[in-house]
Amino acid sequence: MTTPKTFGQQLGRRSWAEPWKIKMVEPLTMTERPQREAALTAAGYNTFLLRSRDVYIDLLTDSGTSAMSDRQWAGMMLGDEAYAGSENYYHLEAAVQQYYGYKYLVPTHQGRGAEHLISRSAIKPGQYVPGNMYFTTTRLHQEMAGGIFVDVIGDVAHDPQDRSPFKGDIDISKLDALVAKEGAAKIAYISLAATVNMAGGQPVSMANVKALRAWCDTHGVKLYLDATRAVENAYFIQEREEGYADWGVADILRDFCGYTDGAWMSAKKDSLVNIGGWVAVNEWELFEEMRNLVVVFEGLHTYGGLAGRDMEAMAIGIKESVQDAYIRARIGQVRYLGMLLEEWGIPMMEPVGGHAIFLDARRFYPQLTQDDFPAQTLAAELYLDSGIRAMERGIVSAGRDPKTGDHHRPKLELTRLTIPRRVYTQAHMDVVAESVKAVFDARERVRGLTMTYEPKYLRFFQARFEPKA
Ligand SMILES: *Cc1c(COP(=O)(O)O)cnc(C)c1O
Repeated sequence: MTTPKTFGQQLGRRSWAEPWKIKMVEPLTMTERPQREAALTAAGYNTFLLRSRDVYIDLLTDSGTSAMSDRQWAGMMLGDEAYAGSENYYHLEAAVQQYYGYKYLVPTHQGRGAEHLISRSAIKPGQYVPGNMYFTTTRLHQEMAGGIFVDVIGDVAHDPQDRSPFKGDIDISKLDALVAKEGAAKIAYISLAATVNMAGGQPVSMANVKALRAWCDTHGVKLYLDATRAVENAYFIQEREEGYADWGVADILRDFCGYTDGAWMSAKKDSLVNIGGWVAVNEWELFEEMRNLVVVFEGLHTYGGLAGRDMEAMAIGIKESVQDAYIRARIGQVRYLGMLLEEWGIPMMEPVGGHAIFLDARRFYPQLTQDDFPAQTLAAELYLDSGIRAMERGIVSAGRDPKTGDHHRPKLELTRLTIPRRVYTQAHMDVVAESVKAVFDARERVRGLTMTYEPKYLRFFQARFEPKA
């Protein structure tokens, strides 16, 4: 008889576990397949349109879905709901200054509110905004401000099987080419995302941000960071980049941000809150412009569309998010799911990134063309199999080219299983892995989807589909 081995032992190491325990639970709904078929039909085969009560394990997004700590809930009770000068605003300002290092803070209700402010303030119509792969709301706000997005991520990011450690890095020769063609004055700023969501949660190296800083200084261009998952990025630097193994994640984060001129943030991700965001910069004039605009679009500059209690929870969440034991367990859980799927030969984006598993729908369904919406199809099949909710990150999310009206056709056609922070257990991950395996085993009979309704903006949220006969 063989002794059963824990997963850690199979990997030849001692197991670790989460540095927290569960104090309160939320019951989940279990459904049967006929119920799920009815729910998915009513939702137009779009997982965004499902009611959450019909979902068992919700891996739609890691945005605003984290479990807050008892400290954060206690902080909620300390909400200072003054219209102006709330105490909680000053706590948040201090946390951002301490952990991210920027001087001037404007709170916003969430990330896109911050993207709106910085895009409007820092882009002149007709200017280019080079970025390391697009993010949906980021690019749209840049375009609505008159900017032209240019993808300058390294080519390896578009290859789901390339195992490079820092697939989020910007290819500086692509920036050189842009300057040679258009001139540095036509660049609004470099839009650097850490980690790169659409590339599979892939990190940016410290070497790359240092090189970008030098490049920006040479050309007189600003460098702004999408800091939404910069803590997860810092963990990858600690783990993979030479010279950082002895650094704490908090120190790496602060150092990384120090090479940039400012950042915007969706605190609904790294910062462990259900709502909130900010934009922070070191330059007074830009700050003044955004502090003025926030009053028009979000609320006064000491609350930015948030309640005082939300800002308090965010300030506490920032501190919790940079604790080494926490971030290791967070990324370790994502990696655990990744290892199970890898063992079973499931095609996915590799290496596994920080916040999600990205299944490679092109290799999953080789019989489908991109016009059959393979990643959308895979999300639908997963829901039907087990009530797990995933999200499309492929041709539907990419939207249409504003000039030609054609679909953007991204190389990557991915279905994202996004892991909320501090919410699900290892047993939930086992259930997810087994469901993906079942859908993979049944892949040959799948025919794809037709789009029956397409909204104008960010169509992936509200589009409707029908299965092909
Ligand atoms: C979620 C997200 C945003 C937008 O933030 P919201 O809080 O959803 O408005 C911007 N950038 C990245 C990388 C994100 O993941």
